[in-house]
Amino acid sequence: MLTCPKCGRKIVDEEAVYCPYCSRPLKTEVTKRTDFPTAGGVLLIIATTICVIAGIMALAVFLVTYQYTYYNGLAGYYSYMPRYVDLFAGFFGILALIYGLAAGILSLKRKKFLHCLIGGLLTVGEGFLIVIAFAQQWPSSWIIGMVFGAPMIILSVAGLLFVSIAKEEFRQ
Ligand SMILES: [Zn+2]
Repeated sequence: MLTCPKCGRKIVDEEAVYCPYCSRPLKTEVTKRTDFPTAGGVLLIIATTICVIAGIMALAVFLVTYQYTYYNGLAGYYSYMPRYVDLFAGFFGILALIYGLAAGILSLKRKKFLHCLIGGLLTVGEGFLIVIAFAQQWPSSWIIGMVFGAPMIILSVAGLLFVSIAKEEFRQ
């Protein structure tokens, strides 16, 4: 809990800038605020949005290939095999969605630096998973993987970079 340096009263609101009793500014030195956490947060949120789309696509691909193999049991050798990497990419996408979105919002609020990093790393990981998952589907499906995976990786890494630069601005 904060204590006012002038009137000595306790202040419940941890984020108070001025003392509610005597109006004295509470922080003598305010950390310089840059736009980096905001930029990082926005980038992480965009990366997360792509994660969701790509994750749903990966799940859909898994379900379709799974069904295809099921109905062509005898010809299974020639038909598409369900790739569990798609299923994994789909579920990991949901995890990355929850954590990545939280990281983006926390970064906008300059809170929980460590969780911002973890969220960003998860979206980077999901980017690679999507590239791998789609690269294995059809002869030229790696292009789909790159179209979604590459922006996810680039945006997340850029977001992580911005968040890291602004580490000092985060409250733990
Ligand atoms: Zn006061």
